[in-house]
Amino acid sequence: MLARLFRLHGLLVASHPWEVIVGTLALTVCLMSMNSLATSKQMCTWNGCPKVEEVSVSDIIILTVTRCMAIIYIYFQFKNLQQLGSKYILGIAGLFTVFSSFVFSTVVIHFFGKELTGLNEALPFFLLLIDLSKACALAKFALSSNSQEEVRENISQGMAILGPTFTLDALVECLVIGVGTMSGVPQLEIMCCFGCMSVLANYFVFMTFFPACVSLVLELSRESREGHPVWQLSHFSRVLAEEEDNKPNPVTQRVKIIMSLGLALVHAHSRLAAENPGQNRTMEGHIAKSPESSDSINPWMYDFVSASMDLEQVITLGLALLLAVKYVFFEQTEAESSLSLKSPIISSAPTPRPWAAGDCCRRDFPVQKPQMILNSTLATSPTTSAVCDSKSSPEADTSTLGTKKKTFCICLIVVPLAFQRGPHFLSDEEVMNLVNSRNILNYKLEAVLETPERGVAIRREMLSPKLPVHSALARLPYKDYDYSKVMGTCCENVIGYMPVPVGVAGPLLLDEKQFYVPLATTEGCLVASTNRGCRALFLSGGCRSRILADSMTRGPVVRLPSACRAAEVKVWLETSDGFGMIKEAFDQTSRFARLEKLLVSLAGRNLYIRFQSQTGDAMGMNMLSKGTEQALHTLQQQHPDMQVLAVSGNYCTDKKSAAINWIMGRGKSAVCEATIPAKVVKEVLKSSAADLVELNISKNLVGSAMAGSIGGFNAHAANIVTAIYIACGQDPAQTVGSSSCITQMEAAGPEGKDLYISCTMPSIELGTVGGGTNLPPQQACLQMLGVQGISQPGHNARQLARVVCGTVLAGELSLMAALAAGHLVKTIILIQLFGTCVWNSSM
Ligand code: NAP
Repeated sequence: MLARLFRLHGLLVASHPWEVIVGTLALTVCLMSMNSLATSKQMCTWNGCPKVEEVSVSDIIILTVTRCMAIIYIYFQFKNLQQLGSKYILGIAGLFTVFSSFVFSTVVIHFFGKELTGLNEALPFFLLLIDLSKACALAKFALSSNSQEEVRENISQGMAILGPTFTLDALVECLVIGVGTMSGVPQLEIMCCFGCMSVLANYFVFMTFFPACVSLVLELSRESREGHPVWQLSHFSRVLAEEEDNKPNPVTQRVKIIMSLGLALVHAHSRLAAENPGQNRTMEGHIAKSPESSDSINPWMYDFVSASMDLEQVITLGLALLLAVKYVFFEQTEAESSLSLKSPIISSAPTPRPWAAGDCCRRDFPVQKPQMILNSTLATSPTTSAVCDSKSSPEADTSTLGTKKKTFCICLIVVPLAFQRGPHFLSDEEVMNLVNSRNILNYKLEAVLETPERGVAIRREMLSPKLPVHSALARLPYKDYDYSKVMGTCCENVIGYMPVPVGVAGPLLLDEKQFYVPLATTEGCLVASTNRGCRALFLSGGCRSRILADSMTRGPVVRLPSACRAAEVKVWLETSDGFGMIKEAFDQTSRFARLEKLLVSLAGRNLYIRFQSQTGDAMGMNMLSKGTEQALHTLQQQHPDMQVLAVSGNYCTDKKSAAINWIMGRGKSAVCEATIPAKVVKEVLKSSAADLVELNISKNLVGSAMAGSIGGFNAHAANIVTAIYIACGQDPAQTVGSSSCITQMEAAGPEGKDLYISCTMPSIELGTVGGGTNLPPQQACLQMLGVQGISQPGHNARQLARVVCGTVLAGELSLMAALAAGHLVKTIILIQLFGTCVWNSSM
């Protein structure tokens, strides 16, 4: 009810600004001219508010302190407002301050017949009583409008929210300050008397003149800018309405009401008592000296008092000047250099079209990328109120955030301005505040800021204090890295990059071509050992390889109402019609993925369907996932009683050891072979064919069988696969299946002293496009092998698989030879003692 009244009042005032302004000014003039009619009795009986002609030293000190406090207080109020960056708000607040506190208050005081000579003392009170935050909040309501109609609507809404609180506050302030008028201290009584009237004047101006001015100023500015909106922050008016600062807290409200009732009682009692002659307090009780008593003051005391008063004025004036100079000359520069929060309207530089709330949904939003992302960051934030409420963020660190008001201001002003001026206008600290208040989502830092590297740096800075060792990140590099290739593809929440040493092994003579193989590893001797294997192969005429199969798999799990229904669907999938329909859906999703086969297995009423497809040069997991999902959609249309449990039912099988990959193959299935002459076996590998064959049977075949290994019939295929995968941007987790290998050795040659070796690897999951292969260093390694990027579809990827298989063969040769010769442990000791690897000598 009360809110409705205030809303109507706000609407009335905002709709008729001219009338209200002229009315208020007319009232001001009237009050001035009616001054002669006024008598002190027209005013509430404030105990006469005696005129003071003499003041004590303590009064001077109190006055000086109060004035200084008032100046500092008003300075900070304006400083806060300046941070909002709006000259509109600044101007309106200035107008409000001057009019309500000086012009109107003076007139009201004058009207009530009070001596204006005491106003000098009361001035500090006027300033201390000004709370610009509410006026500012109401102005923000108005500024968050797109049209004049919205200005009116928002002012009335603001009035409905702020009006009742402001009224109650004015009442409480009046009653509290009014207590001072009964103190018996003349100076205090005068000040409190003026204070009360100032509060009332303030209230009146806030309710009438101020909203009318805001409405008028906005209307005029809009017209002068040919109808362009001021800030187009209409969605923020909702935020303002939801802001806790603006909403009256029911508990506080109740306390205020009880307090004001109590104070009203105190006032009533004391005024009644004052009117009773028997109990009337007299001026004798006052500390201030009357003119008569002043005669008795010691002359040196007079000198001291007048000197103190001069000093007091000098101090007050000096402070005011100092702060004014600081505010005018330094604050502006600071603000511009850090936040550059100049109002977009008055900026002389050409400004982009102001951001509008609805723009986040527009695809053709013509702004720079970071701005767009910041935009969507805002748009995708949980709720608008949560966006701007620091309390809603569990991460919110109040110590760094500052007051809630600051967050509020940041939300309201800084973020939208960042759209217009670019994120480089925000300091790191301000960005961190925005992250803490969830206006910028931490994971979008790289995208929002002008350079991804800055985003990474800020994330590191925010993370460091939370780590057990605060300086931990100092040695994790992050500079000079192309994060644009990482963003949205390879890694999230990036805090740097991990430099892994990359060694080279080769030349690997494979299918009559030479390859220098990059190996990223931290395992000492691995590269040296592989290199020795390459050398042995090179001296033996190289190795030969073949690709046996090439198809990636994805195995979803679906559920039917019964096992019989599951069996029927299985049969349907195995018909050419069923398969054709599924293939059509699958193939639509990629230019390269072509469904080749479905392997369907059944467990109760669960159906496991292994989709198998070529994937061009891509490793193909994302590709397969997309195709499978589309195919399942079609399958479900055919069999509506089917329920898709997961697009991956571990029947793929990805990144887990599984016999199905070992038996059926996954990705590229490759085989590589070589025959090493006895001489090379002896001179390079320091072993013999017989020893190696024997060891291979005992270790790689029987040993692994004893261990129940799946696909682990090799010495250390995973070492080479992983090192190549890391260097060449493959998914390192896929070394699980990709390292499956059976190494076979046989005595060969006329005398059986040569060594025949083969490595068969059925599930090499890799690609030369997509994923980490897009990153420049990884691309460099792929280029070393001549397989980077797109080729005649699938050629590069298959070539890479051959290189992997060939290098594994080289690695197997060398390690098996080292084991047979008992060199492995020796090598470890050598490394530990001298930091050198024995195999280096054989390069
Ligand atoms: P991708 O980058 O997701 O897809 C390859 C993209 O390259 C496709 O858009 C494809 O076009 C395009 N392309 C252009 N030329 C191509 C060519 N010659 N051959 C093949 N594609 C070509 O790569 P992906 O291999 O499918 O997925 C790799 C990523 O998946 C890695 O980051 C890996 O870590 C991750 N991964 C995902 C899963 C999962 O379950 N989703 C599992 C393991 C790994 P089209 O659009 O026409 O196909």
